[in-house]
Amino acid sequence: MFDLNIKIVLNEEYDVIVIGGGPAGCTAAASAAREGAKTLLIEATGALGGMSTMGHVPSWCPFSDKEKVIYKGMAAEIFAKSKKGQAHVQDEDVSWVSIDGEHLKRIYDDIVVENGADILFETRLAAVQMRDNGNVDAVILANKAGLTAYKARVFVDCTGDGDLAAWAGAKYEKGDSETGEVQMATHCFVMSNVDTYGFLYGPRLNPYYGESPVFEILKDGKYPLIRDRHMGNKMIGPGAVAFNAGHIEDVDNTDPRSASNAYVMGRKIAHQMADALSEYHPTAFGNAFLVSTASLMGIRETRRIVGDYYLTAEDYLARKTFEDEIGRCCYYVDLHKKAKTANQGEEQQIHKKYKPYGSGESYGIPYRCLTPKGLQNVLVAGRAVSCDRYVLGSIRVMAPVMVMGEAAGMAAAHAAAGDCDVHLVDVQRLRNRLKEEGAYFL
Ligand SMILES: Cc1cc2nc3c(=O)[nH]c(=O)nc-3n(C[C@H](O)[C@H](O)[C@H](O)COP(=O)(O)OP(=O)(O)OC[C@H]3O[C@@H](n4cnc5c(N)ncnc54)[C@H](O)[C@@H]3O)c2cc1C
Repeated sequence: MFDLNIKIVLNEEYDVIVIGGGPAGCTAAASAAREGAKTLLIEATGALGGMSTMGHVPSWCPFSDKEKVIYKGMAAEIFAKSKKGQAHVQDEDVSWVSIDGEHLKRIYDDIVVENGADILFETRLAAVQMRDNGNVDAVILANKAGLTAYKARVFVDCTGDGDLAAWAGAKYEKGDSETGEVQMATHCFVMSNVDTYGFLYGPRLNPYYGESPVFEILKDGKYPLIRDRHMGNKMIGPGAVAFNAGHIEDVDNTDPRSASNAYVMGRKIAHQMADALSEYHPTAFGNAFLVSTASLMGIRETRRIVGDYYLTAEDYLARKTFEDEIGRCCYYVDLHKKAKTANQGEEQQIHKKYKPYGSGESYGIPYRCLTPKGLQNVLVAGRAVSCDRYVLGSIRVMAPVMVMGEAAGMAAAHAAAGDCDVHLVDVQRLRNRLKEEGAYFL
C-alpha cells in the first residue's frame, strides 16, 4: 500500500450520474434526463450498448410472454428502432430478433443525447469518495484527462459488475456462495462472407434444434477448446453471422488478471470455431472469414448487490407479483454451467426444476431490488441487481435490464429532486410515471 498525494480536478456537478452505458445504463441515463435531472453517463468503451453492441451478442431475448410484449417503455422503443434497420426482420417479430450492433449503437446515442444527458466515453470509474456512511460524495474517473472527480446528488450503478455499489461498501454476493462458481463466459464473434443459402437451408448449428455439426466437431477432438455444444448464432446482415458460442471457465470479471486471460482464451476459441465450422459446415462457412471478436468479454455473472429485497427462485416459481414492482420478466432460468456438468445434462435438470414459463406468465421486479442496503444515494440496475443465482439466470437478459434501467433512472431523478435517499422515493408516484411512459407491470 502507498498513499497517493495527488490533487484531483473537481468537474461540474450533476443531479444524477450513471456509471456504465450498457442496455441498463442507456435507459437509466435517458430516463433520468427525461425526468428533468441534469445527467451524466460514464462509459468505459467508445460506444453505448454494452453486451448488445460492444459484446457482439447476436439477438434480443424474446420480448413477449407468448401472448403480449411485456417489456415496454424505452425498452420497446429501442427494440422497435433496432428492428427497423434490418431488412430481414419484420416489425411484428418478437423472439430472438437479430441485432445489427452498428445500427444499435446510434439508437442508444440518440435516445441518451435527445433526452438531454451528457456522455463521457473512454472513461472508467476508478474510485468512489464517500461523504458519510451510506452517501457517495463523488466518483473518481480515469480517462485521457487523467484522474478527475465528479459529484452528483444520486448515482446509478449500471456497470454490470456492481463496481460503484461494491466500492461504496454495499454488501454483495458473487457466484455460488459455497463453491464460488460463476456462470461460464463467452467471447462472442462475427463471421463474414457466410453463404446465406448454406446457412439458412443447410444443417442448423444450434443443437437444440436436433442434429448439428457441433456434435461431429466435439467427437473429432481436433478442436480441443470447443468443449461443449454451446453454439448460439444469428444472421445479422448480408453474409454476416454473429456467434454467442463457446465457453470459458472460471472468469472473474472483477479480477483484471482473470479478465485479461479470458480475452486471450476467447480469441483462441473463436479461431478454432472458425476453422471447425469451415471443416464441418462447408456449405455455409467454407469461405467465411472471422471478421471480429467482441471488444467486451461476455460475462454472465459477477457481483449481485444485496438490496432491500432479494428476489429468489421461489419467487420465480410463484410467478410473484409485488406492490412495488416496476416491470415484469418472463425469461427462463438460463444458467451456463461448466462443460463437465453441462455435458452430463445439468442445465436440462435446472430447466426441469425451474420450468420455462407458459403463455402469459411472468414475475414482478420489485423496486427494492434496485436499492442497495446501507447506501442512501445509490441505485443499481442491470446484471448486478439483488437476486439469487437462479433468478440472475433469468433477469440478466437485455429486455428486463432496460426496464430496470428506465425505472432506476426515473427514481434517481425523483430522489435527486428531493432528499436524495433512494429508499424514500415515493414508489406509487414512480409507478404512475412509469405507466404514463408506457411501462408494463401489475
Ligand atoms: C455471452 C452472452 C450472451 C448473451 N446473450 C443474450 C441474448 O442472446 N439475448 C439477451 O437479451 N441477452 C443476452 N445476454 C445477456 C445480456 O447481454 C447482458 O446481461 C446485459 O447486456 C446486461 O446489461 P447491463 O447493462 O447490466 O450490462 P452490460 O451490457 O455488461 O453493460 C455494462 C456497461 O458498463 C460499462 N462498464 C463496466 N464497468 C465500468 C466502469 N468501472 N466504468 C465505466 N464503465 C463501465 C461496460 O463497458 C458496459 O458498456 C448475454 C450475455 C452474455 C455475456
